[in-house]
Amino acid sequence: MDLSIIIPLLNEGESLPELSAWIERVLTENDLSYEVIFIDDGSTDNSWNVIGNISQKNNCFKGIKFQRNYGKSAALNEGFKAAKGDVVITMDADLQDSPDEIPELRKMIIEGGFDIVSGWKKKRYDNTLTKNIPSKIFNAAARLSSGIKLHDFNCGLKAYKRKVVKSIEVFGEMHRYIPVIAKGAGFKKIGEKVVEHRARKYGVTKFGWERFVNGFLDLFTISFVNKFGKRPMHFFGLWGTVFFLIGLASVIYLIVSKFIYTDFSLTNKPAFYIALTAILGGMQLFLSGFVAELVARNAAERNVYLIEDRIGLS
Ligand code: UDP
Ligand code: MG
Repeated sequence: MDLSIIIPLLNEGESLPELSAWIERVLTENDLSYEVIFIDDGSTDNSWNVIGNISQKNNCFKGIKFQRNYGKSAALNEGFKAAKGDVVITMDADLQDSPDEIPELRKMIIEGGFDIVSGWKKKRYDNTLTKNIPSKIFNAAARLSSGIKLHDFNCGLKAYKRKVVKSIEVFGEMHRYIPVIAKGAGFKKIGEKVVEHRARKYGVTKFGWERFVNGFLDLFTISFVNKFGKRPMHFFGLWGTVFFLIGLASVIYLIVSKFIYTDFSLTNKPAFYIALTAILGGMQLFLSGFVAELVARNAAERNVYLIEDRIGLS
């Protein structure tokens, strides 16, 4: 099979008929064999019925329905597991990504030899203040920390070699940084293609303000896990030692100054305590966060989701 198209969706019933007709037209015109896997991430509208109807007319359209909303990353991960195509495409369900881009993306993987080709919404039809500007900051941070030269990490429209999606695991809200995860797994040929972006035609965005905070925390985690996931002590040990030495030096300094200066007053300054507790507390939180992340990654059920129903897939 040439292509698996993976489409995570949450309450996008209005868009699905138009989207699937469009995909069908483009892929038939280009003479490509394909499957489309819709992952219904706990929709409460009629999405699942619509998927059933689409699949009745064309059994290349398949579906997985989650018991509840687990998030876009979980949906993608489940789609990656099910995909059978040589090239795997992910796209959003809301008609913001154009299916017309699919043949060219596939070509870049097959003929250009890329492991991943990420879409770049160079001209973006989203709210400038809440989406476009924060996204520029995100992308700059991701570029800086990962060394991957992409303009638009979080673009929903991407193409992958099958091997890539079978080798990586996406959970939490890590879908924003799949190229970073893939690079960590050793897939280095990551390309970019400017894609057409369109305004949302139906419904509303499913991501609120939390994405700012979650997005940045996930970036820290991925950088950390990529680098130290298999050798956490090199991180904790080094910084633990550094902090221990700083602490030791401070104590020696305090003891010595007590004897030298009679009007010794460092500990009378509230700022001293605030700085001390803040630094210690902050370190504690971060380190426990990383440790928790490592533990979570080893939990057997980290990527197990309850599935309510399937269409066309066993
Ligand atoms: N989505 C999902 N689960 C969620 C949130 C979103 O499957 O918990 C889907 C959503 O239906 C859409 C895609 O992920 O197909 C991108 O979401 P959205 O368009 O709301 O994001 P935006 O384009 O506003 O960043
Ligand atoms: Mg969208």
